[in-house]
Amino acid sequence: MSRRVLITAGASGLGRAMAEAFAAQGARVWVADVDGAALETCPAGWGRSRVDVTDEAAMAAMFHRIRAEWGGLDVLCANAGIAGPTAPVEEVSLQDWRACIAVNLDGAFLAARYAAPMMKAQGAGAMILTSSTAGLYGYPGRAPYAAAKWAVIGLMKTLAMELGPSGVRVNAICPGAVEGPRMEGVLRPEAAAKGMTRDQVYRGYASGTSMGRFVEARDVAAMAVFLASDAARLVSGQVIAVDGHTVNPDPKP
Ligand code: NAD
Repeated sequence: MSRRVLITAGASGLGRAMAEAFAAQGARVWVADVDGAALETCPAGWGRSRVDVTDEAAMAAMFHRIRAEWGGLDVLCANAGIAGPTAPVEEVSLQDWRACIAVNLDGAFLAARYAAPMMKAQGAGAMILTSSTAGLYGYPGRAPYAAAKWAVIGLMKTLAMELGPSGVRVNAICPGAVEGPRMEGVLRPEAAAKGMTRDQVYRGYASGTSMGRFVEARDVAAMAVFLASDAARLVSGQVIAVDGHTVNPDPKP
C-alpha cells in the first residue's frame, strides 16, 4: 500500500515541493493550506483541505476526513510557518508576536496532536516538523520567528520521546535561505536601498554558508522524503539542517 502523507502549507513553497517529491515516489498526498487559489493548482489526485493550521476545529475536521478516507496516516509534514515581523524587539507588537507563534508553533502542535493517535494505533509513522536555521541560531530583527522555530525543535524532541515507544519517529528539518520569490523579495529591495546589485546582496548572505549559496526547495523536499523512508527507520529526535552549512548566522551584505 502506498504511503499516506499529509503536508501542511503544501499548496506552494517548500510544502509543495515536498508534496511533489512524495507523489513522485508513489505516495498518496494530502495538502492542507489556507490559500484556496493555490490549492486549486494542485494535481486533482491529491487530497486537499482549505484550513488555517491555527484553527483547531478546522484541523480536527480535516483529520476526521483523512481517517475516514484513508483509514490512517503514515507521514505528517508539519510545515506551515510565516516569517512574522522584521523589526527590533521594542517595535514588535504582542499581536504580531502571537500571530507568528500561532502559525509556526500552534500549527505544528495541532497537526501532531491529531496525527499522533492514528500513528500510535498503527504502531508506526513519521512526523517531520519544519523548523529553520532561525531555530538553531539567533536571528536579529526576527524575535518571534526565531523563538517559534526554537520551540518547534523542543516540541519535536518531546514528541520523539513520547511517541518512539509506539513506533512513531519525529524529526525536524532546518532549511537555510531558500532560492525563490520569498528571498528575491528580500534581496532586490535591499540591493536598491544599499545601491548594490541583487547578486552582491545574494553573495553577501550566501557567504554565511561554507557552500556559498542558498538552498533550493528540492533539497529540503529530498530530506523530508528520506526522513519518512525506511532508510531512516532508526532516525528520530534529530534536527537536520539543510542550509549549505551555516558558518555565520548573521552575515551582513
Ligand atoms: P511560503 O511563504 O512560501 O508559504 C507556503 C504556504 O504556506 C502558502 O501556500 C501559504 O498559503 C501557506 N500558509 C501560510 N500560513 C498558513 C496557515 N496559517 N495555515 C495553512 N497554510 C498556511 O512558505 P515557505 O517559504 O515554503 O516555508 C515553509 C516552511 O519552511 C515554513 O515553516 C517556513 O518558516 C520554513 N522555512 C522557510 C525558509 C525559506 O527561506 N523559504 C527558510 C527556513 C524555513
